[in-house]
Amino acid sequence: MTRCSRRALIRGAALLPLAATAADALGEPPAARYFPRHGSYAHSTVAYDLRLAYHPAKAGLDGQARIEAVANQRLERVALDLSRLTARTARIDGTRVRTRQQNGKLYLDAPHPLPAGAHFTMEIDYRGRPRPIRSPFGPIGWDLTGDPYDGTMVASQPTGAPSWFPCNDRPDDKAAYTFRITVPQGHDALANGTLVDRHRTGRGTCWTYHHPGPMAPYLAALYTGRFRHDHGTAPVGPDHPPIALHNAYPAWMAKDAAHDLARQPEMLRAFCGHFGRYPFEAYGAVVVDAELGAPVENQTRSVFGRNHIDGQRGTETLVAHEIAHHWYGNSVSLRDWRDIWLNEGFATYAEWLWSEHIGEDTADEIARAEWRSLRDRPQDLRIADPGPRLIFDDRVYVRGACTLHALRRTLGDGGFFALLRSWHAAHRHAAADTATFLAHAEHHTGQETRPLLHSWLYEKRLPDLVA
Ligand SMILES: [Zn+2]
Repeated sequence: MTRCSRRALIRGAALLPLAATAADALGEPPAARYFPRHGSYAHSTVAYDLRLAYHPAKAGLDGQARIEAVANQRLERVALDLSRLTARTARIDGTRVRTRQQNGKLYLDAPHPLPAGAHFTMEIDYRGRPRPIRSPFGPIGWDLTGDPYDGTMVASQPTGAPSWFPCNDRPDDKAAYTFRITVPQGHDALANGTLVDRHRTGRGTCWTYHHPGPMAPYLAALYTGRFRHDHGTAPVGPDHPPIALHNAYPAWMAKDAAHDLARQPEMLRAFCGHFGRYPFEAYGAVVVDAELGAPVENQTRSVFGRNHIDGQRGTETLVAHEIAHHWYGNSVSLRDWRDIWLNEGFATYAEWLWSEHIGEDTADEIARAEWRSLRDRPQDLRIADPGPRLIFDDRVYVRGACTLHALRRTLGDGGFFALLRSWHAAHRHAAADTATFLAHAEHHTGQETRPLLHSWLYEKRLPDLVA
């Protein structure tokens, strides 16, 4: 079964060795991270304001990034992530500063040392022809869409964000975002959050989106091209305001896309019941004119490839999967990629809950079938620490979901869904890791769930599903 395990466009995907270079020297937590070259712990981001002009004929991007940040330690320089694009000028708190670019990093020399706790603003002018970043999972980040290539998309998980804007590329560095995107007349632009302004300029149309987030850089998204738009609302219950819904897709596939996405309001309603209040101000799906290895849960605007739309809801489980990520993955974020089962195990279990909800196979039936499949495969993976190359291994998804099902069988439906809701409520708009989940489960339920979870998550041998 296809899952959102491969982020790359199908064309050109290639496996490359992971670089094992030492992390940037500006400040590193003691625990080893899976992608230590990305992100810095020396500062935290508060807000990104990205002014972008995209020229389809040249596939060129002119960017101005205004980044508000806080120093976590005394800073003499600031390290950002920016790949294959050229920073032309940079300022810190209005003062022009010296920059250096090397191996996907952009370093800004502070005009004077910034003390720990200092709030500061960076302004970076940059430009270039953005291209996907090659990764062990194929090309990720910015890519072209359409035939001919006159559109663009972003699918960055896990480390593709620096392909289009300078950022602190950590999954737990979450910030607010404003996007002001100028595209030629006749082209549309979509980004995370909601459209707050659109006006003509000398160079085309400027589209402004704002998303208070908070959002990790890898979930930031921009789509340009020509789309058919479908606006609506999802009434999810008496105690919850309706969720604004905005889908967009190429006009030529409008009929099939509208049909395949039609049950999103019912998914949102069902998941609000299971997981608690929807954590963001809007939701929508964007279908791009390209074949994708998998959909991606870009925050408030999940992206699907044309190959995920067949007019027969053939991949509807993935529509449910990406919505569920908005609770688990986007709102409750990862502290590090090693904990990815907290995203993918939960979203995969949501697929099974959706199947149960619509009267097809129950989660129990699916779990038993998936368990039998896992039993016949190599048991050589620790789900809570699969290694950086295997974060998208299908077994992380399936065994992660089976872990939750084992917990459901132990706690009963009432206790289990209360635990899911409390997990989201406790870490909403923040970041967490597996150790925190184990502690939360015991604390919340008052039961000794740790031995069960430990055997599923940290031991390689597959535990029995039915105790
Ligand atoms: Zn997923």
